[in-house]
Amino acid sequence: MKTVIEPFKIKSIEPIALTTYEQRKKLIKDAFYNTFYLKSEDITIDLLTDSGTTAMSARQWGKLMEGDESYAGSKSYYKFENAVKDFTNFKHIIPTHQGRAAERILFSILGGKGKVIPSNTHFDTTRGNIEYSEALAVDFPAEGGTDPAKLGDFKGNMDIKSLEQMIKKVGKKNIPLCMITVTNNSGGGQPVSMKNIRDTKNLLKKYGIPLYIDCCRFAENCYFIKMREKGYRNKTIKEIAREMFSYADGCTMSAKKDGLSNTGGFIGTNDDGFAGKAKTLLIITEGFITYGGLARRDLEALAVGFEEVFDENYLRYRIEQVKYFGDRLIEQGVPILVPTGGHAVYLDAKRFASHIKPEFYPGQSITCEIFKVGGIRAVEIGSVMFGKKDEKGKHIAPPMELVRCAVPRRVYTNSHIDYTVEAITEVYNNRKKLKGMKIVWEPSFLRHFTAKFDYV
Ligand SMILES: *Cc1c(COP(=O)(O)O)cnc(C)c1O
Repeated sequence: MKTVIEPFKIKSIEPIALTTYEQRKKLIKDAFYNTFYLKSEDITIDLLTDSGTTAMSARQWGKLMEGDESYAGSKSYYKFENAVKDFTNFKHIIPTHQGRAAERILFSILGGKGKVIPSNTHFDTTRGNIEYSEALAVDFPAEGGTDPAKLGDFKGNMDIKSLEQMIKKVGKKNIPLCMITVTNNSGGGQPVSMKNIRDTKNLLKKYGIPLYIDCCRFAENCYFIKMREKGYRNKTIKEIAREMFSYADGCTMSAKKDGLSNTGGFIGTNDDGFAGKAKTLLIITEGFITYGGLARRDLEALAVGFEEVFDENYLRYRIEQVKYFGDRLIEQGVPILVPTGGHAVYLDAKRFASHIKPEFYPGQSITCEIFKVGGIRAVEIGSVMFGKKDEKGKHIAPPMELVRCAVPRRVYTNSHIDYTVEAITEVYNNRKKLKGMKIVWEPSFLRHFTAKFDYV
């Protein structure tokens, strides 16, 4: 059979809002034209993020009842630790309440003034935590990684040549670690090849710099390796994951993604000295080392999530659903970042609304219109999220202007996707009517979450 179906049936349902165009016009205006201010009860299809929005399985819900809520030494922690060690093989597994808590601990210890932290592309909270520690975050996306129209199997790769040039220039003493994000979220959910991870590790070994993987979507990345990289077709996803983590000295993870759960994260490391410091910080800010800010029942759900995510029927459905979404849009002529990545479809706002200059936030304008037409919530990833200003106040645009439509795991069916495609196509066909936007208020840090907008 060629048709890829959802490899599950629906046991419990949650109604979604069906509203009118007039209602949605008012709702988005009242939300200051920022989709983060919308109430979820007013949304028809919520593609804001794939983080923590997963539908848990019946087995996970059952396991919640088995949570051992002991403060120290909880049985649930050991189940979680075993599940994570099984594919990462790291010596220390330190639980946190989500990914950014792991990042904060990592960079509080290894970041700081004068330090430089390279990556293929840092995620926004990773960059935020590095910059907050006063270290410098630098991205080395491989060639083609910032060109939405260019096809490629592993557009998430690290530019190893530029990385080495930077190491020579800055000096290995000032680089406490290098990161690789899999899949590369800010770069379009694009995978990183095993060869690229191995080559990065070999380079870093020469200079004695540890490699940490930001592994939120490790299973999706491993599935792409299986399908696209020579020599991996007959390996299981777990075998591929084990090889991938064997090249790393540690990792941070937001388990709200490939942990198939609604919250959680962890740090994995082989470095005893670092682990000791991390555990101290964990106790000060997150909680004891056997729960790290999580309810122990959440650790139970994660232990099961880390089994289910290796199911190839699940991963095929997951990757194919995102591809289905992208392919339908391409059929309608809508410009998107190609090929589709693991967790989201990214509209290419530069081509979609080519009459709106980056400083008037074309992505934000598209995002608002998609909500008005279909009640669909997406998020701008472009000049709003990453734009800066020079000394004269002139806008400096990031390389890409995108609108991310993230697909929650196991939540929407392909008829929800068809509905979404219809709405986006309608916005695209009327794109000449899209108007530029301006920011009327913004905070000093991570402005996209709370900035307020209006039309120019
Ligand atoms: C989500 C995410 C994070 C941060 O994790 P949270 O759980 O949201 O704190 C870090 N890196 C990447 C690549 C992510 O996608």
